[in-house]
Amino acid sequence: MSRKSPQNPLFDAQPFNRYPQWLLNKLRPQAISLIQRVHAWVETECIPAEQIMKAQVAQSRWETPELMRQLRQKAKSQGLWNLFLPDHFKESPGLTNLEYSCCAEIMGRTYWAAQTMNCHAPETGNIELLAKYCNDAQKKKWLKPLMDGDFSSAYSMTEPDRASSDATNIACRATREGDEYVINGRKLYGNVKWNADMKVYILMACSDPENPDPWRRHTMLLVPSDSKGLTMKRNLTIMGYDHAPEGHGEYVYENVRVPKENVILGEGRAFEIAQGRLGPGRIHHCMRLIGQCERAYELALLRCKDPRKLPRGKYIGDFDSNIERLATMRLEIDAMRLVVLNAADTMDSLGNKAGRYVIAQSKILVPEMAAKIVDECMQLYGGQGLTQHTPLPEIWTYARFVRVADGPDAAHRHQVGRDQLKGFETTRKRHLAYADKARELRKHWAFSGELEDGEFAWDYIPPSGPKL
Ligand SMILES: Cc1cc2nc3c(=O)[nH]c(=O)nc-3n(C[C@H](O)[C@H](O)[C@H](O)COP(=O)(O)OP(=O)(O)OC[C@H]3O[C@@H](n4cnc5c(N)ncnc54)[C@H](O)[C@@H]3O)c2cc1C
Repeated sequence: MSRKSPQNPLFDAQPFNRYPQWLLNKLRPQAISLIQRVHAWVETECIPAEQIMKAQVAQSRWETPELMRQLRQKAKSQGLWNLFLPDHFKESPGLTNLEYSCCAEIMGRTYWAAQTMNCHAPETGNIELLAKYCNDAQKKKWLKPLMDGDFSSAYSMTEPDRASSDATNIACRATREGDEYVINGRKLYGNVKWNADMKVYILMACSDPENPDPWRRHTMLLVPSDSKGLTMKRNLTIMGYDHAPEGHGEYVYENVRVPKENVILGEGRAFEIAQGRLGPGRIHHCMRLIGQCERAYELALLRCKDPRKLPRGKYIGDFDSNIERLATMRLEIDAMRLVVLNAADTMDSLGNKAGRYVIAQSKILVPEMAAKIVDECMQLYGGQGLTQHTPLPEIWTYARFVRVADGPDAAHRHQVGRDQLKGFETTRKRHLAYADKARELRKHWAFSGELEDGEFAWDYIPPSGPKL
C-alpha cells in the first residue's frame, strides 16, 4: 500500500506520517487500527492528564494514584492491554515486534502511558520471563495476576559494589535448608516495596559458590515483598528523581526464607533464564525513547515560534543556527527510529538470537542520541526548559538512565567490538588478495613510483598471530 494511496489518507496524518514506506507496507490492517487506537488513547487520555497525575502522586507519594487505576481499568476494557505479549500467549493481541514498536513509540510520548496499558518496565520483561520458565502453580500464583494487572513485580539482580553487568559476580546467597532457601545479601534497584501494589521480587542469588562452572552457581527465586527479614533501606533517586510511586529501592536480605517451590526452573539455572530474557523486551525502552524525543522536539518547535520569546527581535527559530539544529534533530530522530524498527523486524523475521547485533545497535545508539537531542531541546527552550515547567528534564533523565538500566552501553559496545574482531581472518584474506593483485598490476603496467615493492601499505598484511 502506498503512503499516498487514496485508500489510506490516514497515512498522511499522525502517527503514520513519520513511518518509512517499507514499514507502512508491512503493517497489517488489524495493527493499523490498534496503532490508531493507542495514538488516540495517549493523545486524549494521557498527555492532557499529566498535571493531574503529578498532583495525585504528590499527595500520596508511594500509592498508585486513583487516576492511574482508572486509566488502567478503562484501557483494559477497551482491549488496550498487554499489547507487547508475543504471539504464543493466548491473550496476545498478535502484534509483530515491528507493529508493537509503533505502539510503544506512541506510549513513550508520556513517561507513564505504557503503564496504563500494562506495557511498562519491568512488568513486560518479568511477564515474559515467568511465562517462559515458571511451572503451572507458579504461573497461577504470580503470572496471572501480573497479566491481569492486579499487582506489580520487580527484577532484583544488581548489587552495590559488584560489577553486576557481569552477573557471575552476584553474591547475595541463597542456601538450601530442608524445604526452604535462606537468603542473605544486599540488592540495589527493583521497585520500592513501600507501594502496596508491589508483591514479588524475581531475585537472582548465588546458591552454589563452589561450582566449578560459574554459569551454574546462581538461582532465580520468587520472593514475596512481605517476606520476614526483607528490609528496604531507602528509595534510590535517579539524578534527583524518586520516580514515585514505583521508585527504586535499596534492600537488605537477612535470613529471608522462601519455600523451595519458589525456585524458577531449577537450582543453578539462573543464567539459562537470563539468556532467555534477551528478547524484544530489551528494546522496549528504545522504542519509547523515540516517542519521548518526538515530544521534546515538539516542545522545542513551539518555543522556536513563540511570539513572547524574541531575542534580538527575532523568533528563536529564525536564527540560522537553530534552523540547522532543528534539521539535525529531525534527521537523528528519524535515523533512531529506523535502527529500532530494523531491530524489531529482524527479530520478527530471523528470531531473537539472530537479532543480537541489531538489538545491541539500538541499545548503544538510541539512549545516547536521545539524551543529546533532548539536551538540545532544553537549550532551545531556555532556562524554563530545565525546570518543572516542562517535562524535558524528566525526559532527559530517562534517556540518560537507559544507558545503564538494562546493562551499560559500554558492555554492549564491548560485545559488538569483539564480534567485529572475529571477522579479522576474512578481512585479512581479502586484503591479501588485494596485495597479490596490486603487485601483479604494478608488474603489468611497469609501474615504478616513489615507493618500492614492500613499501606500499597494502604490501604488508598482518599474519594470523598467536592466540594471546
Ligand atoms: C534507572 C535504573 C533502573 C534499574 N532497574 C534495575 C532493576 O529493576 N533491577 C536490577 O537488578 N537492576 C536495575 N538497574 C541496575 C542496572 O541493571 C545496573 O546498574 C547495570 O546492569 C550495570 O551494573 P553495575 O551498576 O554494577 O555496573 P558495573 O557492572 O560495575 O559497570 C560499571 C561500568 O563499567 C564499565 N563496564 C562494565 N562492563 C564493561 C565492558 N564489558 N566493557 C567496557 N566497560 C564496561 C561501564 O562503563 C559501566 O557503566 C537499574 C539501573 C538504573 C539506572
